[in-house]
Order: sequence, then structure tokens, then C-alpha cells
Amino acid sequence: MKKIQAIRGMNDLLPGESVYWQYVEATVADILQRYGYQEIRFPILETTELFKRSIGEVTDIVEKEMYTFDDRNGDSVTLRPEGTASCVRACEQHGLLYNQVQRLWYQGPMFRYERPQKGRYRQFHQIGVETFGMLGPDIDAEILLLSARILRELGVSDAVTLQINSLGSSEARAAYRDALVAFLGERKDQLDADSQRRLDSNPLRILDSKDPNTQALLDGAPMLLDHLDDESREHFEQLKAMLDAAGVPYTVNPRLVRGLDYYGKTAFEWVTDKLGAQGTVCAGGRYDTLVEQLGGKPTPAIGFGMGLERLVLLLKELECLPEGLDQPIDLYLVAVGDLQGQALILAEQVREALPHLRLQTHCGGGSFKSQMKKADKSQADVALILGEDEIKNNQVIVKPLRSGEAQQSVARAQLIETLKEL
Ligand code: ATP
Ligand code: MG
Repeated sequence: MKKIQAIRGMNDLLPGESVYWQYVEATVADILQRYGYQEIRFPILETTELFKRSIGEVTDIVEKEMYTFDDRNGDSVTLRPEGTASCVRACEQHGLLYNQVQRLWYQGPMFRYERPQKGRYRQFHQIGVETFGMLGPDIDAEILLLSARILRELGVSDAVTLQINSLGSSEARAAYRDALVAFLGERKDQLDADSQRRLDSNPLRILDSKDPNTQALLDGAPMLLDHLDDESREHFEQLKAMLDAAGVPYTVNPRLVRGLDYYGKTAFEWVTDKLGAQGTVCAGGRYDTLVEQLGGKPTPAIGFGMGLERLVLLLKELECLPEGLDQPIDLYLVAVGDLQGQALILAEQVREALPHLRLQTHCGGGSFKSQMKKADKSQADVALILGEDEIKNNQVIVKPLRSGEAQQSVARAQLIETLKEL
């Protein structure tokens, strides 16, 4: 019979790999808590309308990347392609944005029907950060410092650079859009096919076309930064001054635009050249109009999303994962003869006394030799051995498996002390 496989672009995370994820997730969660950010959780499935109204009808995500289907009631639902829209929906629904500021984070799977390749999957994972009720630019600087710290504490600082831009107000963007379309419209035949299509639907996205001819053409094109409204320009200048003062290096990338409609003013990406084409490990920006767009009161907001697959790939590439993460246990308990019940009791006593020790008890019987083989394979540092003699003498054998030290018979009363010394 043909075995059933996972869906293309959706990955299993096996035990040897999940430890790296746990490390990254724990590190990031710890930093977020130190900054006073609180976790929020919301469903993976939302009404399709939520994403259409927030991300925008003519974005890549909504046009061709969403997992959308009718549920059994005939209602159109969508597997979340990102977290910001859901986060705003949840905050609004529960009154979290009424007369208060929020600093929130979440993590979990996102779904986009993209062409699977290294660093790009159909189910991927993000840690997202969203803040509400602060006009900035101080909060803009804070979340950039926060993202910088995450990358620094994970040890990847040297491999990433921060790019920032200002997308201006929606009026400024509209005026700029006209200027850009006028310029590119006259040179339409020189654009790549994708960009030609975007000229009508979403011309700003042409700015981040990867096509070399299009890029060359854009060298002479009008610049968004030259079309900024005064408020956005002032905001951007203040943000840059704060980053300078805090010693966070950045480059202004005037062509940085985000693929989602709700961004305005500050936009940023942390990029690396170590992962090929999928080089953006963290991306975000300000979205001051989104809450209102989804039916709430006007509420300034800024946030970012970090791609966990790309982060883990980068940590592996740079070999900056801590050693020993893939060692699952410290102790392996072997019981020869009919002593499984006794072994389980001993194991519980050790766990009570030394709660941080990772101890596995051999289950399933077998000869002493085969149990010791399992102990060796388990990667534990030490085996505990229980036999008839040990039970009779109220002892346990402690056998170091890696250090080459000799095994010793230890009185049960001395066992915890002995293990502490090891
Ligand atoms: P890209 O330009 O790489 O397509 P994006 O602009 O679509 O990214 P965002 O929607 O801003 O990405 O998502 C934030 C982050 O989530 C990205 O920077 C990336 O790290 C990660 N990400 C986005 N799409 C995927 C995917 N299909 N597979 C893995 N990670 C992804
Ligand atoms: Mg994308």
C-alpha cells in the first residue's frame, strides 16, 4: 500500500531538530518577557474577510497564497497567512485597545501557498510582536532594539543587517504611486512580466522586484523618500537619531516596501546574505490605519514577524547553536531480572531529589547486555544499574558511560550525594 506523505511544503519537526526550536523559542520568549511584552494566542483559522480587509485584495498573499475554503456551514474561512490581522481582531474583540497601550507577542504556524524551497514553506512559523497605542518614534526604536537584542543573544548579529525605510502617509504614498506609475509606464516594455502586471495592481511592489533589468530601470525612478509628508519625514529623522544614539547600525533602503497594504511610515527588515534568496529573517513596520480599517478607533501600532525556519537555518549555518542540545538525557536506569517495579520506584526517588536531572528508566525487559547497549545509545552520561545483589545489599551501581571512570557500588542512602558529585 502506498504510504501517506505530508503535504508539500509542510514539514515535520523530528526530535533531533525540535530541540533547536525549543532553544530559539525559549530564548526569544525570555527576552520578550524582559521587555515587558505579554503573550497573546488566537486561532489559526479566521474568517477570510479579516485578511482581505487588512492585508489587501491586490497583495500577493490574498491574491494567490491563502489557504481558503468553505467550512461545512458554507462560510469562507482561511488558515492565517500572518498574525497581525488576527492580533488586531482579537484585541478589538476583547477591548484591549480601549484607552490603553499594549505590548504583545505570539508565535505559531502561518500558512501560505508559495513555491516550497529553502527558507520558504507552505506552513512556516513566526514569532510576532505587536504594539498598540503608541505614536512613536520611541516605540519604533524600542522594537528595533528588541529585535536587535534577539538576534544578538541568538548569536547571529554579525550575519544580519538592519534595513529601514519610511513609507509615509497614505496620501504621500498615493502621490508617489502616481509619480512612479508615470515614470515606469513610459518604460513598460523594459519591465519584467510580473512588474508589468503590478503596474496596474500594486506598483510599489515593483520596487522590490528581483529582476536585474527592472532594478536598473529603478535607479532613475522617483524615490518614495522624496515624496514623504512632513510628519513622516520628521518621524523618520527622529527614529534614525534614536538608533544612532543607541548604537544600532542600519542602512536606509529607499526601495524597501512591504508586501502588505497596511504598512505606513516606518518599515524595516533584518536581512542576511547567508541563506540565499530567502534572506529576510525578520520584517515589520508601522500600521497606524489598520485598527480603524478593521472597525476600531484609530490606534497607532507597530510590530514585526520573525521567521523561525529561517532563524534556525541561520543558526545552523553559523554553527551558533549551543552544544549538548541534542543530548536528551543524563541518566539511564537499567534493571536486571524481575526488578522493573523496583527500578521505577528508584527512578521516582531520584527525580524527587534531583528534579533537574533527566532520567530515563529502561522499559521492556531484555538481557543485561542489551539493556547496557540501549544505555550507551541513549547518550546518557551515566547508567544506574539495579540487580538482585544490589537490592539485597541496598545498593545501586553507578557506571559512568563517557568519562572512562570506573563504576562503583553505592549505598542507596549515598546515591543522591554521589550523583550530585558527578
Ligand atoms: P518574503 O519577502 O521572504 O516572501 P514576506 O515579506 O512575505 O517575506 P512577511 O509577511 O513580512 O514576509 O513575514 C515575516 C517573516 O516571516 C519573513 O521575513 C520570513 O522570515 C518569514 N516568512 C514569510 N513567508 C515565509 C514562508 N513562506 N516560509 C518561511 N518563512 C516565511
Ligand atoms: Mg512573501
